[in-house]
Amino acid sequence: MLPGWASAAPRPTPDAKADITRFIAAMPKAEYHVHLEGTLEAEMKFALAARNGLKLPFADVAAMKRSYIYHDLPSFLAIYYDGMKVLLTEQDFYDLAYAYLAKAASQTVLYTEMFFDPQEHLKRGVPMAAVIGGITRARVDAERALGIQSQLILCFVRDSSAESAMAALDAALPLKQYLVGVGLDSDEKGNPPEKFAAHFAKARAAGLKVTAHCDVDQDDTLAHLRTAIVDLKVDRIDHGGNILQSPELVALAKQRNLYFTVCPTFSGTLRTSTPPVDVLRGMIDAGLNVTVSSDDPAYMGSEYLNTVLVRAQTRSALTRAELIGLERNAFNAAWLPANRKAAYLAKLDAFARAWS
Ligand SMILES: [Zn+2]
Repeated sequence: MLPGWASAAPRPTPDAKADITRFIAAMPKAEYHVHLEGTLEAEMKFALAARNGLKLPFADVAAMKRSYIYHDLPSFLAIYYDGMKVLLTEQDFYDLAYAYLAKAASQTVLYTEMFFDPQEHLKRGVPMAAVIGGITRARVDAERALGIQSQLILCFVRDSSAESAMAALDAALPLKQYLVGVGLDSDEKGNPPEKFAAHFAKARAAGLKVTAHCDVDQDDTLAHLRTAIVDLKVDRIDHGGNILQSPELVALAKQRNLYFTVCPTFSGTLRTSTPPVDVLRGMIDAGLNVTVSSDDPAYMGSEYLNTVLVRAQTRSALTRAELIGLERNAFNAAWLPANRKAAYLAKLDAFARAWS
């Protein structure tokens, strides 16, 4: 368990807890901040390694999971990038994406926009067509078999070179009909959003949406938020909790009707504020458009969206109306035509009526 989960909220009775758990499980949901490579469970790593003739430096799944010890973003990323080396073929990417989509569908996630990090795969000689092809085939099959709809966001690995990010974008653009947007992830320290201004401009010109991680309590975080919002005019912000430290940026984000994808498992608390601030509670109270996502669940105790929301409900003392509000934001934030968003919102409204 990560630090920061200790709750200041009153402890619910067991009955109330079971009730809210059922409520969250049944609620129609969407998530936009989930890294596909961060859903690569240890069991699947062993299966893919065996299929690809790779030897892993762990005796078994339990030993691998015991190695998932990190204390900050760089130590997390070292484990994350090492883990994805088993992904080599189109079928590997299919299996990865299908497993996540099946898990999400089983948790009443109706719609998701998923991140992937192609630079890491191109580095290992995996063609872009195998990466996007496998994920796309899984999306189609999962929608047909399970009803879950999804889209795909190509992330630039910001601590790699701008050139390698541009090469990845150029390799992906011939397949742009399988993408909905581009994003920016990995280690933000020393890698400001403006490093990718040309990439974002090229992606936009190709008809893609733009989002960017602004990690909580990162160096120069307010400057990065300002650049992302004011100069790069991103369509969405991933994390972004430090905006609470700038009333001016909060006003701007509201004026622009920006949506934020908050992942309380990893970035739930602003520790640079005194006293520390609960990100989700603070952003809701500030009137920002917040959504909740699971980030890298395979590395965060295999806690997918329902568990993340149950914990968030306790920790941030969320009411049922606020939980529904989070999902209303999520469906409104979808990079989908208005009629598809309206259909999801109608399902959420029906749920709210049924549970009122
Ligand atoms: Zn992330």
